[in-house]
Amino acid sequence: MIAENVKKILSEISGGNPFGEKITLVAATKTRTPDEINEAIAAGVNDIGENKVQEFTEKYDAVRGANRHFIGHLQTNKVKYLIGKTYLIHSLDRMELADELQKRAEKADWVCDALIEINMGSELSKSGFSVEEAYDAYRALKKYPNIRLKGLMGMLPISENCEYLRSLCLSVRKIYDKIREKDDLFEHLSMGMSQDWRLCVECGSNMIRLGTTLFGPRNYPQTL
Ligand SMILES: *Cc1c(COP(=O)(O)O)cnc(C)c1O
Repeated sequence: MIAENVKKILSEISGGNPFGEKITLVAATKTRTPDEINEAIAAGVNDIGENKVQEFTEKYDAVRGANRHFIGHLQTNKVKYLIGKTYLIHSLDRMELADELQKRAEKADWVCDALIEINMGSELSKSGFSVEEAYDAYRALKKYPNIRLKGLMGMLPISENCEYLRSLCLSVRKIYDKIREKDDLFEHLSMGMSQDWRLCVECGSNMIRLGTTLFGPRNYPQTL
């Protein structure tokens, strides 16, 4: 079932986005077992993302052959566990996190590839820079020698209003293009989850993070 889902999505995105860019599929693997994740990798997934440091670490050795993304909120006291292990951190959402990443990465003589997280819907429950702050945040974050900025990441709010969601995506794409004009390293716009990825791709996303669509509904343990 997982393999079929992966193949279906890979074929659906194989033509790229309307901006002529290749789309990268990141499998969002929270709560999934290493066996499930390895099945997705065998079916063609090259990128996987965890959103908790503990899960990232626990599954690290049992999963084989994929780029390891970190896509969840990252507490500063847990940064140390990710140093040297991530392919891309999607959730660079505040300056204190950049300070800690810089300090740890420098000590390890490592450069961390990261996306600046944008709080697209200005939601109190989510972190990240506002669209208005994004350019200044980029300029400030660009000064950290051990952090290499590769693009932007965002999560849409829940809404039935497609026009509203579309306008949010397009405003993020606009700031992404503004930065990309001057910065060749900028290549990822990570927007889109199971609910909304088609709309995000239409509006210029080139990296989607899918969990449910690939693996089915999540069963959280009772303790959560
Ligand atoms: C879980 C998760 C996803 C995927 O969610 P689905 O709705 O299952 O596709 C994407 N991004 C982040 C940051 C997540 O935590």
